[in-house]
Amino acid sequence: MRIRGSVAIDLGTVNTLIWVAGRGIVLDEPSAIAIDSSTGAIMAIGTAADALAEKEPQDINVIHPLRDGVIADLDATAEMLHGFLRKAGSSGGPLRANALVCVPSGATWVERRSVAAALETRRRYSVELIDEPVAAAAGAGLDLAAGAGGFIVDIGGGTTEVAAVAGWRVVRAESLRMAGNAMDAAIVNAVRSGLGLILSQRAARQLKVELGLSGGQDGWAEAVGLDAARRTPRLEKVPGELVAAALEPVVSAIGRTVQQVLSDIPAGLAEDVMRGKVRLTGGGALLPGLASRIESTAEISAVVTEDPLRCVVRGAALMVDARRGNDLRADKE
Ligand code: ADP
Ligand code: MG
Repeated sequence: MRIRGSVAIDLGTVNTLIWVAGRGIVLDEPSAIAIDSSTGAIMAIGTAADALAEKEPQDINVIHPLRDGVIADLDATAEMLHGFLRKAGSSGGPLRANALVCVPSGATWVERRSVAAALETRRRYSVELIDEPVAAAAGAGLDLAAGAGGFIVDIGGGTTEVAAVAGWRVVRAESLRMAGNAMDAAIVNAVRSGLGLILSQRAARQLKVELGLSGGQDGWAEAVGLDAARRTPRLEKVPGELVAAALEPVVSAIGRTVQQVLSDIPAGLAEDVMRGKVRLTGGGALLPGLASRIESTAEISAVVTEDPLRCVVRGAALMVDARRGNDLRADKE
């Protein structure tokens, strides 16, 4: 069968990316949808919906349908995907196209099937669900087609996926329900109890990105929140140590999970992992100071993949291309 208009979709807890064969990455937006709670109408999706989060506009419900690494709201997920695909200019059309979709590994079989069904019935895609760590490994440059193996740590919003992979398959894997969102929440709590300042998740995220574990350039960063006592907006210099201490429990949980999966790999994979290093990917891999923390905890070299926020969709795109190549060869034979 010849495939036309194949797509690869990384349905992440924080960001959704869509790649279309022949066009490249055509959509990269927050996994969010805003719904008018009185009429049920969709008000916005993606970036525009996420911009309304925590601002509490009347009668508007901003949903992050994959919030905790599981598909928390199936209908909203389906609507969001539908909207994204329309925006990406992928028409339903009479031709059946293939869709390779990466969903968080915490999603149950029923949730996965429902996502697939939404794409199959409404957009006439023939859907294949793939393991995210395998797509991440391909995107990280491991030569899976040649039987290479490797070790992937994908730190997203809702979950951290730690996996050893070889030749397009998972060898060992562990999913930790703690990643970027948990880091943000830890910063919100620490700033509230340490400085009496109530931050939005957006402001906490900004501190995380600027300061990370290493304290940034100046050892502090500014943040605006609400004074906990007076409930008036206040600007505060937040010290790097406060943020680093807040991140510590999440970072050490990630380090322990890496150690645990590493201690369970087959001997035959040791050389590939050692040579290829632990590949850190997902947005959380960009946390300043994280790679060296993982190195010292797990006692193995770690590197951040190129463009970690797009690694999974790039890998899924390579998988689509590999399949198209196979199909074209089969057509010729
Ligand atoms: P998902 O696959 O779950 O959608 P992503 O791989 O898109 O997640 O990563 C999103 C997470 O990465 C968010 O929690 C975001 O705050 C975090 N992130 C993005 N950039 C940075 C950065 N520079 N430093 C630390 N965390 C970051
Ligand atoms: Mg992801």
